Amino acid sequence: MSTLAGRHALVTGGGRGIGAAVAGALAAEGIRVTLLGRERGVLERHAASLPQSAAAHVVVADVADEAAVAAAFADARARHGEVDILVNNAGIALSRPFAKLDAATWASVIGVNLTGTYHCTREVVPAMIAAGRGRIVNIASTAGLVGGKYIAAYCASKHGVVGLTRALATELAAKGITVNAVCPGFTETAMLDRAVSSIVANTGRTEEAAAAAILTHNPLGRFVRPDEVAAAVVWLCRPEADAITGQTIVIDGGEVQH
Ligand code: NAP
Repeated sequence: MSTLAGRHALVTGGGRGIGAAVAGALAAEGIRVTLLGRERGVLERHAASLPQSAAAHVVVADVADEAAVAAAFADARARHGEVDILVNNAGIALSRPFAKLDAATWASVIGVNLTGTYHCTREVVPAMIAAGRGRIVNIASTAGLVGGKYIAAYCASKHGVVGLTRALATELAAKGITVNAVCPGFTETAMLDRAVSSIVANTGRTEEAAAAAILTHNPLGRFVRPDEVAAAVVWLCRPEADAITGQTIVIDGGEVQH
């Protein structure tokens, strides 16, 4: 049996894409999972696919909404007790030239990706300090480490997530809590499909040409799979990773080396 069996993990955006893969990989360790997202139906379908030992619980909230997050975490605690492992995965990506980046779009990307991470993290830290243990894994991005064209808000939000990760790791290391960021490159999810469609719409290229353009600087020459990101998250949650904190684990086929 896994050393993680019986722990309680909450995964934001746990119903689809990378979050669904992370929830599945944690459930395979015998961890009890709570899936948080905005669409109950999506979350419930994924919960039904997980092993019974996960006792998958679904809570609905927009991570940008502080009160909704507080209610969702209260619900999660009522079902499975305090959260031992928090995976801040919920995120949105929008691409447009900076000159067309209006304040409402900026606020919505920062609100979900960065402030949402703050809201959820604040819900778990006091109990983790009291317990003397905990794991926080933030799904950032390579855009949290390097710049990119037309993604100023996304890039700023993910750099913010990396900064929050490093600050909290420093503050909480002596409390038995590790805080790390996993930074995927382009990963096979609906978010990637939308990026490809946007290039097709803006340039008139075919989907194949758009995908090839995204991969131009990728030494591996293929997109990341969600299960590859999930494996890194599980590794960071294991006791063997007790001394790993404040790190940015890049999973991108070698495109960003830092
Ligand atoms: P996705 O398939 O679009 O999934 C995004 C997830 O976030 C969904 O589960 C969505 O749930 C949830 N979400 C979005 N806004 C939310 C909100 N306001 N409140 C609660 N949940 C919200 O994208 P993905 O690729 O799996 O992305 C997951 C994370 O990986 C994101 O943080 C993204 O920035 C990061 N990432 C992705 C890539 C990539 O190429 N795919 C690369 C680097 C980093 P609902 O819509 O059901 O609420």
